[in-house]
Amino acid sequence: MSLGLRILVLILALAGACLAEAKPARVTIGPNLTDLSLSPRMTYLVDPEGRADASTMFQSAAQGRFQPLPNGNATFGFGDGAYWFHTRLFNDGNSEERWLLVLQYSLLDNLDVYMRYPDGRVDHLASGDKLPFSARAIRYRHPNFWLNLPQRTEVELLVRAQSESSMQAPLHIYTFGAFAEMERDAQIGIGLYDGILLALFFYNMVLWLSLRDSSHFWYMCHLAGFGMVLFCLNGLAFEYLWPGNPWLANHAIPLAMAFSQMAMHQFVRLFLEQKQRWPLGDKISLAFIAFYAAVGLSSLWVDYRTSVQLGTYGVFPGVLAVLYQTFHAIRRGYRPARLFLAAWTMLLVGTAMYASVSFGILQKNFFTEYGIQIGSAMEMVLLSFALAYRYANLRSENENVVREANEQLERNVSRRTAELSAALEQLADANSRLRESNRRDVLTGMFNRRHFREVFEQMLHHAAETRQPISLLLIDLDHFKRVNDEYGHLAGDECLRGLARNLADCLVQEVAVCARFGGEEFVVVLPGVSATRVVDIAERVRRHIGAVPVRYAGKEIPMTASIGVYSVPVGSSMSADEVLHQADDALYAAKNAGRNRVHVSA
Ligand code: GH3
Ligand code: MG
Ligand code: MG
Repeated sequence: MSLGLRILVLILALAGACLAEAKPARVTIGPNLTDLSLSPRMTYLVDPEGRADASTMFQSAAQGRFQPLPNGNATFGFGDGAYWFHTRLFNDGNSEERWLLVLQYSLLDNLDVYMRYPDGRVDHLASGDKLPFSARAIRYRHPNFWLNLPQRTEVELLVRAQSESSMQAPLHIYTFGAFAEMERDAQIGIGLYDGILLALFFYNMVLWLSLRDSSHFWYMCHLAGFGMVLFCLNGLAFEYLWPGNPWLANHAIPLAMAFSQMAMHQFVRLFLEQKQRWPLGDKISLAFIAFYAAVGLSSLWVDYRTSVQLGTYGVFPGVLAVLYQTFHAIRRGYRPARLFLAAWTMLLVGTAMYASVSFGILQKNFFTEYGIQIGSAMEMVLLSFALAYRYANLRSENENVVREANEQLERNVSRRTAELSAALEQLADANSRLRESNRRDVLTGMFNRRHFREVFEQMLHHAAETRQPISLLLIDLDHFKRVNDEYGHLAGDECLRGLARNLADCLVQEVAVCARFGGEEFVVVLPGVSATRVVDIAERVRRHIGAVPVRYAGKEIPMTASIGVYSVPVGSSMSADEVLHQADDALYAAKNAGRNRVHVSA
């Protein structure tokens, strides 16, 4: 035998072995069996065109053209054409003849089940989400069929699955009792998860309504969209929300996915305060929002698979971008971002586990099947914590700002108050100086005529009320014009100042108010001085003026004065003008009588 022939024989032998392995499978249903996962016990064949019919496929199965499932798992990722699955079921003494066949995946578009009995009869049943919900054997979120498996009979089972979504066909059979028990556990799990989602949704709605912080609103939208995607994925949306609407059953997922992702990126923008803290990160979020807006809109006319694939492909970079943005925020010291990071990590891990099944990377098991649910439940709880933490953070920041502003305000107010009171003091000082200078005569420093008038009126009034005597001297220098003419005007001024000094010296013992009345005329009010005593005082004044000459430029300038005196009668209510008039008359008389003398008005 030549070497080539030997190799040919070997190859044929190996091929024979392979064919033997691919021999049509047979499942024996023993007396105590209640449920069974069929997938590991089935063979499959892909019909790329999707045109082959059941009889052709029964034939192909008989010819051994069907292959065992890869690792016994009916998960293929996105693929074209129809997938055919085949097995033989033999009821070996099980009293239960009516079994429920369930495909534990709700997104398949078309599902056809063919059963061939030994007598050659073929039963055909159809389901899938391209058909109304009512087409199912029992009201259940996954496609299901009644199988009739008579005892001691071999039934050939052929299942055809076709879908635009990812191809998964985990087939199970149950007795009705076993199905009810299994589904009870699943419903509790789903109810628990949807309950968490719903509670968080309303919790955030209340927070949004009471705090008016729109990050809660967008988080709510994210929850709603996300919950809707899962509600569709586990088949409940089709069952409860739109059982008669296969179109919506197929379009709801890309729409809800796009909506939840848009809301998520908007939420991230607000939560991380990117507009203020990191404008580039903000632009990244906006890009994702635009992308998902496009995906959502296009899903209305682009086919399901393209839009779901686009949307799913976007989730990974989207969540990675969020992670990066979160890292960035943490690096820049934004504390609320830390809880945020923990939350997104949970979701990322869960989603990655779930999606890797869709793409055929990981096998289906509890953690991959419920990866999104577990990850997202933890994510959402943590995010709600993060929101609360951020709120507390904002509040304490605000309190700090308010406190600082208050302190600054107080400092400003007290500084301003001090400045103001200093200014007020200066003003009061200036005012009193002004008032003082207003009542003084500039040349002599005596009270001026206006102030004298005010004081005099009060004194007159007081004297009249208290029935006290009051007297007035009107003093006029004699021939003062000559002093000016002889010694000069400045000497005249000095004489006026000298007279003021002399008056003060002379009246130091008396309670007297002296004032310059005008020109070289002076007035003295003497409260409590009666007509008898006033003449002595006037004489003393006159003599003093005559006796003390004024020195100016080494010269002594002699001066005399004439004095008009008037004493107001006790109890009289004369006006100031009347009294002055009397004194003036007396002064006129003194002048007329030859000057340098005192004249008392009658
Ligand atoms: P008689 O004895 O009649 O009072 O004569 P007299 O010159 O004193 O009186 P008259 O009223 O004729 O003149 C007053 C003079 O006083 C006129 C004016 O030049 C002078 N006089 C008035 N006020 C001042 C002043 O402030 N300074 C100086 N140097 N002279 C003044
Ligand atoms: Mg005079
Ligand atoms: Mg005069």
